Amino acid sequence: MVLSTTEENYLKAIFKLSLKSPENISTNNIAAETQTTAASVSDMMKRLAEKQLVAYEKYKGVQLTDIGKNIAIELIRSHRLWEVFLVDKLGYKWDEVHIIAEELEHIKTPDLISRLESFLGFPTNDPHGDPIPDADGNINNHEPISLNELKALEKGVIVLVKEQSTEFLQYLDRIKLNIGSRIEVLEVNSYDNSRLVRIAAADTVFLSDKVSDNLIVKRV
Ligand SMILES: [Zn+2]
Repeated sequence: MVLSTTEENYLKAIFKLSLKSPENISTNNIAAETQTTAASVSDMMKRLAEKQLVAYEKYKGVQLTDIGKNIAIELIRSHRLWEVFLVDKLGYKWDEVHIIAEELEHIKTPDLISRLESFLGFPTNDPHGDPIPDADGNINNHEPISLNELKALEKGVIVLVKEQSTEFLQYLDRIKLNIGSRIEVLEVNSYDNSRLVRIAAADTVFLSDKVSDNLIVKRV
């Protein structure tokens, strides 16, 4: 099925809304999400309904069909893999890549995304910490926890920094730990709960319990 970029972006917007409140997606919600008017949203919903990508009844709201949902998840998968590529392989900063990935995600060459995924070593999260759906469309949505709740040999990605002091952030810079950093806990010292952590695929560092408590991660 050939879809326009606009149509695809609507499917993505509806999917994102469905993660927040699956029951109740109105044309107004979609208009707010896509920054357009409710009138153009209802026109678009009729078009997508004809293509059997959404189920749309005027007073009942909008739902993605299975086909529509699969297309949305594929776009998100492609988007997040391109973001990893841009940061890891082309050296872009993590705040620069979203807008580029918004365009790249629409390229539909067969095999491109699975080759990209394997070239990148099957990453599980994008540079912002969001999970990358696998080829079957499964998304791993783990709840954020403190790094000191990760056990030995568990892996995670840093999604948030609780403490914002300059001293703390400069310390994180020095040990090259950032939002989006992938980490693996190698050892936990049961005496003081400090832990030896591998950052990305290279450096290892000892983190105190206090530092770990201030780093929020998602298990991957
Ligand atoms: Zn993005």
